[in-house]
This record gives sequence, structure tokens and C-alpha cells, in this order.
Amino acid sequence: MEPVFIKNYTLPDLEAWVESIGEARFRARQLFRQIYNRHIRSWDECSDLSKMFRAQLEFGTLLNASTIVEKQEASDGTTKYLWGLHDGQLIESVLIPDPPRCTLCISSQVGCPFQCKFCLTGTLGFKRNLSTAEIVDQVCQVGQDQGARRRITNIVFMGMGEPLANYASVLQAIRIMVDPNGLAFSHRRITLSTAGLIPQLRRLGSESPVNLAISLHAPDDALRSELMPINRKYPLPELLSACREYPLPPRKRITFEYILLDGVNDSPKQARELVRVLHGVRAKVNLIPFNPVDSDFRFNYRRPSDARILAFQEVLQQAQLTAIIRQSRGAEISAACGQLVAKSSNSVASD
Ligand code: SF4
Repeated sequence: MEPVFIKNYTLPDLEAWVESIGEARFRARQLFRQIYNRHIRSWDECSDLSKMFRAQLEFGTLLNASTIVEKQEASDGTTKYLWGLHDGQLIESVLIPDPPRCTLCISSQVGCPFQCKFCLTGTLGFKRNLSTAEIVDQVCQVGQDQGARRRITNIVFMGMGEPLANYASVLQAIRIMVDPNGLAFSHRRITLSTAGLIPQLRRLGSESPVNLAISLHAPDDALRSELMPINRKYPLPELLSACREYPLPPRKRITFEYILLDGVNDSPKQARELVRVLHGVRAKVNLIPFNPVDSDFRFNYRRPSDARILAFQEVLQQAQLTAIIRQSRGAEISAACGQLVAKSSNSVASD
């Protein structure tokens, strides 16, 4: 019999499963709290459960869906985790301390099908979707590993993969993350970043009030299609219409991520075009200067000069558009935006 990955279950799923093996329904809530509030590492720690039930759990379930293969910490505290999955696949997550925040950037797929031109993850191709348990486990095990040293305050779906292409598992994981008996995060502390899968984006708006970020990276359709092939299927005007119609909570805005590539998408004219296309969207813009570390032999892109970056920001700010320059963190350990390729430092060294 295949073992049950227990972190695939929301509380109602777990209640149904517990009943299916002949245990009382209330045991599910006890179990859920043990897993997510007490962060148990084995079923033996659940002393309030009968020996018989613990034996059933031990025999028929797996508490963890992944194991930490390697952990690298950069000088600024950014910490990259490499995970081994049960079928031998590898993924990464990145913890970014920025007091009082401590953000965990998690993966939703092994590789990515969308092949954006500036993204190393896209060069891996697509292997498979992560299960709910594999997504939730990144949060649980990083929390356990960091202990009292650093507490995760925010979660962002910006690691490997396109979360909306793995909609069901991602939504199920978010339900566990926000359940008061589960990981108990507020929706306001969770951000999902997408390249713009419009049907799933519309569904998300009606099903989960998490923060939304859009990987935009170009102010016009032609350039966006060149940089992000997914734009051919879901063109920029349609994506921005979906953003205008997105049911945002009061005072919330959509974050637009914009990687600045020297001489490609960083001119003042393109900044003005960006202002024009975002008109009517409750938007803020994160400007992310391209990170050439480790990737410059694969890509022809360069980071713009500081003067060019500031000039681009100035145009947006003059138009009353909030625009923040975000420096990628963890570049020295290949943990910055677009650098996740799930390789151990040993294999990088031996390349
Ligand atoms: S930027 Fe996002 S959607 Fe594009 S290839 Fe990278 S991981 Fe995939």
C-alpha cells in the first residue's frame, strides 16, 4: 500500500481520513495541531495518541515529504535550502531575513514550463508539479530548522515554477498555511507571483485573498512575448484587463515585478509606456536590476547602470506610481531572483 503523505491533507481531508481508518473525528484536529503548531518530527512525540493509532500512523503515513540535502547561508543571512523529494527530484527555497520581516520564498514545481528568457529556472524545463505536502513541507521544515533564531513572517510563491500552473496543490497548501489550527499565517502575509495565467488568475481572485504579484518585465506586447513566451497565449492587454477586474481587498495593490535589463526594457520611453499601460490598475512596481551572477554565460543580459535604474524609477514616481528598487538578495549563493536551478554547491563547483 502506498504511504499517505499526511501534509497533503487540509483539516477536513484529515478528518475524513481519520474516520476511514476507524478513529474518532476529533483526533484529526489533535493531529493537525501536533504537526503544524508543535512541529513534531516523529509520531512518537504524540504521546496523547493511543499506541495503536501511532502504530497506524507510523506504518501507513509519511510525516515529511522532503529532506534537506544542503543549506547555504550568504553573508547577509539569506539562506538557500536544497530539498530532495521522494522520487529523487530536487527543488530549492530561500529564506530572506530583513528584520522585522523574515520571508520564505518557496517553489511550486520542479523546473518550469514557461522558459522566460532571463530566468535560469526556465532553462531546466518542466519535470513535474509539487504536491501540496511538498509545498507545505518547505515552510514546516525551514521553521523547524531555524527554530527560535528566525521566525518566518511572510511566504512568497516566487521560487521554482509557476504556482498558477499547479493551481489545485498550491490552493490546498495555502488553505493549510492559513488554517488557525495549521500554520496560522494571515492571507496578508502570503504572496503569489505569476507570469500571468489569466483563467487561473481570475479563479484565484474569487477563491483566495492572498497578495498578488505579476511578473511583468516589459511594457508592450512584442517585447513581453520575446522575454516571456507565455505572453503569446495570454497577451499583455488581456492580462492587464484581468488585473483591473481583480477583486482586491480595500487598500491593497497588485505588485508588478519588473526585471531591469540593460538596453532591453529600461529606457525612459519604456518607463512612460509602463505608466500608460498600468493606468487604472491599483499597482505598485518592484524594479529588480538583473542579476548577472552565474547566469551571464547563459544569457546576454546585463544589469543597467545605477543612473539608468534611477531614471526609470523617476519616471514612474513622477506619475505617482509607487516604484521600489529591490536589490536581489543571496546572489553569492545563487539564491537571487531567477537563479534557482536546484543544484548542490558541490555540483556547481564541479561544473
Ligand atoms: S520567471 Fe517564473 S514563469 Fe518564467 S521561467 Fe522563471 S520560474 Fe518560470
